[in-house]
Amino acid sequence: MHMTSQFNAPDYYLLDDLLTEEHKIVRAAVRDWVNRSVKPIIEENYEKAVFPRHLINELGEIGAFGPFIPENYGGAGMDYIAYGLIMQELERGDSGVRSMASVQTSLVMYPIYSFGSEEQKRKFLPKLATGEMIGCFGLTEPNHGSDPGSMITRFKDMGDHYLLNGAKMWITNSTIADVAVVWAKDEQGVVYGLLVEKGMPGFTAPETHGKWSLRASVTGELVFDNVKVPKENLLPGVKGLRGPLSCLSSARYGIAWGVIGAAMDCYDSALRYAMERQQFGKPIAAFQLQQKKLAEAITEITKAQLLAWRLGVLRNEGKSTPAQVSMAKRNNVAMALNIAREMRQVLGAMGITNDFPMMRHMMNLESVITYEGTHDVHLLITGHDVTGLPAYKG
Ligand SMILES: Cc1cc2nc3c(=O)[nH]c(=O)nc-3n(C[C@H](O)[C@H](O)[C@H](O)COP(=O)(O)OP(=O)(O)OC[C@H]3O[C@@H](n4cnc5c(N)ncnc54)[C@H](O)[C@@H]3O)c2cc1C
Repeated sequence: MHMTSQFNAPDYYLLDDLLTEEHKIVRAAVRDWVNRSVKPIIEENYEKAVFPRHLINELGEIGAFGPFIPENYGGAGMDYIAYGLIMQELERGDSGVRSMASVQTSLVMYPIYSFGSEEQKRKFLPKLATGEMIGCFGLTEPNHGSDPGSMITRFKDMGDHYLLNGAKMWITNSTIADVAVVWAKDEQGVVYGLLVEKGMPGFTAPETHGKWSLRASVTGELVFDNVKVPKENLLPGVKGLRGPLSCLSSARYGIAWGVIGAAMDCYDSALRYAMERQQFGKPIAAFQLQQKKLAEAITEITKAQLLAWRLGVLRNEGKSTPAQVSMAKRNNVAMALNIAREMRQVLGAMGITNDFPMMRHMMNLESVITYEGTHDVHLLITGHDVTGLPAYKG
């Protein structure tokens, strides 16, 4: 029994009034697809720790890859609200499915579109948009996570090519990627993006096993052992940490929306259960303590929706700052994780089973609160922004 197929999207403050017809059509299409293609299979994939790879082409068909990339490069030319709504619906299905689309869109297509040469854009973007090609993003290293500026992955100019050495860890899509956007330092210590392609000698991507979170998502390493990277595979349009950080801003923006989908799914399932489940002769929804959980959940979802929507408008106008994105990512992920925990309790024992989505969302959100900048690091970014004093640096 999957109660979420009866999903009712909470919209307490009538935020739908702020959306265009196009936004609503896109959201409805992705919502239907999630109900049809993700919900029925996701619990089993999660249990088996297998990414549902057969969904990739369908994700391309519904426009989940690069919705804001212009149409002449295979995208849909939509705005950032549409992108957010797509992420929300995908994450209502599963954070792993949303992660796959986030990486493909914000961490692979976005840097190629923003910093790539015309040849790179033509070669990669249309195929990434359909899902014919899969991408991944290599920034984190075994010994450098929150502090990527200290990375040790390096490339040397060998005249007619670059020689790349180093390793990346915790990389979403790593083993299935055809192209990896890899951030590495040149001999002067300046960070550049390199497009490393599957099959280049010396490049391997072993999978990371044993995750209790994001189990329906591929995570692995990227290992570079004297990889010869053609010179035309360097992203010419950016140098320094601004490159990866601008990609992260785009992805974090999508996460701020995505996690609302997970929270909605938990809230909606718990509300329905609480109305039906009887104890002491009445529905558990009639007890004040259960109402407190539900009332706080809808309040927090509504606040998160407002934050995400306003951030989307600012992003559409080119006015959003990275610190504003940090605030929304941090607030909304913590909101969703708390709601997953509270809504699970509303279901009592049933809440721990895979008949309901709460435990899966909860475990997924433990990754989401860590990746793309941890909860604590985002707080320090807000602290830096309001004081001018960077507490996260030595
Ligand atoms: C499932 C999954 C998928 C991922 N996918 C990708 C991907 O596709 N590409 C990619 O590049 N990376 C990816 N990551 C990596 C992710 O971005 C990092 O895990 C994250 O940036 C944190 O780095 P770390 O795990 O090394 O933790 P660390 O940086 O070692 O942090 C450990 C703890 O110390 C805290 N901390 C660190 N610095 C400070 C400070 N200055 N002040 C206070 N506290 C601090 C952190 O908040 C955290 O609680 C993924 C991670 C996961 C779990």
